[in-house]
Amino acid sequence: MPIEYTGCRLCKSPKIQMRMDFGTTAFANNYLEDETEHEPTAPLRVFQCENCGSVQLKDTVSPLILFQNYLYESSTSAAFRNHFKEYAEHIKDLFNLRRGDLVVDIGSNDGIFLKPLKELGFRVFGIEPAKNLAAKAEKQGLLTYTCFFNKQEAEVARKVHGPARVIACNNCFAHIDDLDEIVESVKLLLHPDGVFVFENAYLLDTIENLYFDQFYHEHIFYHSLRPLVQFFKSHGMDVFRFERNRIQGGSFRCFVGFKGKHSIDLSVMNSWINEKDSAIYTSEGFRIFTYKVNKLREKTLKFLSQVKSGGKTVCAFGAPAKFTTFSHVFDITKDLIDFVIDDSPAKQGLFTPGNHLPIVSSSWLYDKKPDYCLITAWNFADSIMENHKKYKEQGGRFVIPMPELKIV
Ligand SMILES: [Zn+2]
Repeated sequence: MPIEYTGCRLCKSPKIQMRMDFGTTAFANNYLEDETEHEPTAPLRVFQCENCGSVQLKDTVSPLILFQNYLYESSTSAAFRNHFKEYAEHIKDLFNLRRGDLVVDIGSNDGIFLKPLKELGFRVFGIEPAKNLAAKAEKQGLLTYTCFFNKQEAEVARKVHGPARVIACNNCFAHIDDLDEIVESVKLLLHPDGVFVFENAYLLDTIENLYFDQFYHEHIFYHSLRPLVQFFKSHGMDVFRFERNRIQGGSFRCFVGFKGKHSIDLSVMNSWINEKDSAIYTSEGFRIFTYKVNKLREKTLKFLSQVKSGGKTVCAFGAPAKFTTFSHVFDITKDLIDFVIDDSPAKQGLFTPGNHLPIVSSSWLYDKKPDYCLITAWNFADSIMENHKKYKEQGGRFVIPMPELKIV
């Protein structure tokens, strides 16, 4: 059973406002082996803290259920591999890191970030609770501890490896219920002049670009700058740099250090002002967001119903975690989509959570020749269309659903 929160996980204020209720949904990464399998579900409700502005899920599903056998492998995507290579070079330059410096990655997945860091000459290790992913990293010679990160693990790691110059935590700072524990553990392992950096989808981009499919159980938090500054301050730390990039449809990179150890970059103030001018801390902002999502839903359903009633075939490209919320909100059923293509071999042969569509390889684009291909991994739309030019040349049409329905 999920744990229901009645207050803010960051500042502990009991004053929260419900912003969105998606009803009850399946777990985004719970791919099924059997189409007829009965799967667990939980409520997906979103609130905002009236005190610090943090946006969070009301209900936490146990990480033991969500993460033990995690099929999402970061390194499947070439775009992602390049992103992390550049990221590694960026932090090296930014903080004048030297060969042999210790860099730690929390939630290291299959070692996508550890690999380029190690190639730059740093000592590295990862922490990854999913056994299947940790094993993949280990196979490449990337030291990975299979556990959840906590104070005890941090203390042991410091004794064995010494203090870390950089601790990273990418795309999982939103997944962890108890961020107090994480930050206190980071402080135990971090060098006094060290940097804690985490990259995450940015609430501002999620709201402005209608990325409603970012909301699913694994994402407990929808982070933005203002609540984070207050949160880290309460732990004796400063947010000293805040960058934005286009990965995952819009992410931020937040740099944090011990209080007074780093000069505060102008990017923090600029982003603060930018957030102030947006509607992300108002009920009106979420009301408009919901209204626009509903409009997009109507348009997409109308399009899919029309082409299906005309006897056409439609497939989806991409069964990422967000596909579960996408299908749930848009009522995407077997009547509308024939099959889902995904490049991850681990997902092929399984069924999508919620609507139980079969997941197949991209060879089906050419064997089955569907008339339309709805790109549900919209953040990789450019590379998918580039890799499958042949499908279009053979008369197939790509459809991009977000942030606006577009037939290419
Ligand atoms: Zn709060």
